[in-house]
Amino acid sequence: MTYQSINPYDGKLLQSFDDLTEESLETKIATAAACFESWRQTTFAQRAAIAAKAAAIMRARADEFARPVTLEMGKRIAEARGEVALSADIIDYYAQNAERFLAPERLHPSSGEAEIESTPLGVLFGVQPWNFPYYQLARFAAPNLMAGNVVMVKHAGNVPQCAIAFEELWLEAGAPKGAYTNLLISHDQVNRVIDDPRIKGVALTGSVEAGKSVAARAGQNLKKSTMELGGSDAFIVLDDADLEKTVEWAVWAKMNNTGQCCVAGKRYIVVEELADRFLDKFRTALAKLEPGDPMDEATTLGPLSTEGALVNLLDQVDRAVGDGATVVMGGKRIDRPGSFMQPTILADIAPDSAAFREEFFGPVALFFRVKDEDEAVALANDSAFGLGGSVFTGDVARGKRVASRIDTGMMFVNHPTWTTPDLPFGGVKDSGYGRELSNMGIQEFVNKKLVRVE
Ligand code: NAP
Repeated sequence: MTYQSINPYDGKLLQSFDDLTEESLETKIATAAACFESWRQTTFAQRAAIAAKAAAIMRARADEFARPVTLEMGKRIAEARGEVALSADIIDYYAQNAERFLAPERLHPSSGEAEIESTPLGVLFGVQPWNFPYYQLARFAAPNLMAGNVVMVKHAGNVPQCAIAFEELWLEAGAPKGAYTNLLISHDQVNRVIDDPRIKGVALTGSVEAGKSVAARAGQNLKKSTMELGGSDAFIVLDDADLEKTVEWAVWAKMNNTGQCCVAGKRYIVVEELADRFLDKFRTALAKLEPGDPMDEATTLGPLSTEGALVNLLDQVDRAVGDGATVVMGGKRIDRPGSFMQPTILADIAPDSAAFREEFFGPVALFFRVKDEDEAVALANDSAFGLGGSVFTGDVARGKRVASRIDTGMMFVNHPTWTTPDLPFGGVKDSGYGRELSNMGIQEFVNKKLVRVE
């Protein structure tokens, strides 16, 4: 059974769900394919009305949508509500802008007339992770539905209630059956869906391992794909940074969603002048976080998403320490029920240790002390990942210069990497390819068709 809803706060099983049978899966793909033929004929205004309604429902019932997020993967309730609002914003953003983004583009050929039309591809398949159970779905579904595609989604095994709620949202908003389809399916079934000739594109957000498997399968079938994968973002602190503000952002970058963000601060790279003071303040701030029920507004430290995630992270920390890393703070599970981990800082991570290369997905910061700006840039780039990153400095021009030297898809100056509907999101190297959100995100799964008139 792939889908189990387990509360990571106390380990209790809330609900489990059977995988779809092959017959039901076939029926759903057929329904989606039939739906595409009518959905592609609808106008932007008709699709926008449905999307705007979906966004309005999410906002009006934010508490109801936030609850299963907290129950299934342990996100603190205020953050869960924030995610609901962000998801609604993304849906609204595409409702309002899709027509403009996909308007025919007039070309100026040497003779005759020509333009580029952006037409939908058909049924798209998304494979999505649990860490932002609605936001991930919104950023895949909203642009693609607005472009005239229909979408099918396999969500992660630990968030089935969120997966079901998001499908019901679209039906309630007036989308026809088959426009948005939730698929409770196994990894084997994922492969069969990708192979199906009715599926025209594949988008995955998740780990590098999942990305390699799904991208390979899409490639074998010559299907367009986008891959939004892991990261080990550098949080660079230069000698002229405002220390108080930088530490506040350092804590947020590490502890938002209990560190389970692809763009969380993962490698803290601090120049010598500020290193001791930064580390001291960072440690003091992290030590103040109090574990508790993520449903309780007062809780400042939630559990990790699953017991398995905690066990993996503890094992990574133990291996890092075995390879010579120093534990500045934390490093252990918190002695209470649920999958809680102490906020952790590791230092002295040797370049030849696995920890130097791996992504730590949780409340574990890797701390590096460097001589100067050049050494900070070199260390930031010494990674197979290339998702986001940030640089903190009192001189914005200097921050921009450093940002342009880092090989990642996104760089922020004086703010941790974050996401809004109007900014493109995605990475390079092992962090994947393609972009979601903004105008760029809606262009990924459309046919850029040339129409030439003599
Ligand atoms: P994951 O294990 O790769 O799971 C992501 C999704 O892929 C889930 O739906 C999972 O299903 C499915 N999946 C995994 N292996 C598969 C396979 N071999 N074939 C078919 N489907 C497969 O990732 P995670 O550990 O849950 O999520 C954390 C990772 O996602 C981190 O690396 C994080 O950085 C990355 N992430 C990236 C972004 C971005 O935008 N770049 C955003 C968020 C997260 P099951 O749950 O059923 O296994």
